[in-house]
Amino acid sequence: MINLEEVKRTMQELKQMQSLPMEIKLSMTRQRIREWVGRYGVNGVYISFSGGKDSTVLLHIAREMYPDMEAVFVDTGLEYPEIKEFVKTFDNVTLLRPEINFRQVIEKYGYPVISKEVSKSVYYSRRSNNPENIYVKKLRGELEFEGKKSQYNQEKWCFLLDAPFGVGNQCCDVMKKKPLHNFHKKTGKVPITGQMADESKLRSQKWINNGCNLYDSKYPISNPMSLWVGNDALEYIAKNNIKIASVYGEVIADCEMDGQMWLDGYSPPKFRTTGVSRTGCMFCMFGAHLEQEPNRFQRMKITHPTVYSYCLRPWDSGGLGMKTVLDYVGIKY
Ligand code: SF4
Repeated sequence: MINLEEVKRTMQELKQMQSLPMEIKLSMTRQRIREWVGRYGVNGVYISFSGGKDSTVLLHIAREMYPDMEAVFVDTGLEYPEIKEFVKTFDNVTLLRPEINFRQVIEKYGYPVISKEVSKSVYYSRRSNNPENIYVKKLRGELEFEGKKSQYNQEKWCFLLDAPFGVGNQCCDVMKKKPLHNFHKKTGKVPITGQMADESKLRSQKWINNGCNLYDSKYPISNPMSLWVGNDALEYIAKNNIKIASVYGEVIADCEMDGQMWLDGYSPPKFRTTGVSRTGCMFCMFGAHLEQEPNRFQRMKITHPTVYSYCLRPWDSGGLGMKTVLDYVGIKY
């Protein structure tokens, strides 16, 4: 017999819900926020605000419902300067800072490169002499699941073990998570984020495991926009004429969504930004190998030449020494 609890959230259900019209997902988002506030009170929650377009949409939705809700921005020093300027235009935003800067993170743990999972495997494999260590096995392509080669093997990135620089996955924890966890410890407040399941396999899996609102955890978290996809946020921005950080440029409608089935024949236009499509950390190399040219570094060379020079300048000359890393991995700049 099928256990309904076990099939409550599946990948198939996630896909179906992601294909709903934005307005329906917006109602669900409001409902999740209402439930979160119902549990913790408006003074017991905060909006995790990165200054990016998705969290700007979240801030707009949440403050239409609760105008006094606090927002929190972690000033990592890695954001586009335009993002920091944009954040300053909002009231009631608390600024947090990490305990160490990006150079110190690299020095202590290594560069964040390719992905969190790959950086983690390289970091721990280099510190292990055990051939049965899970990270060693992943990089050797030896991980098995039910007698077959696991999809989580990473042998393609095995060459990073010989890289003449450190590689590590701790950057996000130190620069972003720790300041927020400290804030939680100090104030007891719990976050509402603009995260979408669509952004990664890990986030999809988290939605399947926890849904949008995770209450029973050391760090409770609400992700009320989990079911949105990137185009929804742009649609919301365009429809509501919301101001977003200038580095994105304008939001414009392009053409019909290609190759996607939409429920009830609903087919919203495809929106895009005329400037950058993502903000996040300027110097981050996660995912840069997947980008079409001009990639983030090639664009940075044109739009932010001073920051670009700092990134590529050799470590011993006071830069971040990323030229060596990008050359080694084969990312153009
Ligand atoms: S996104 Fe990249 S640069 Fe930013 S905190 Fe995480 S690992 Fe560091």
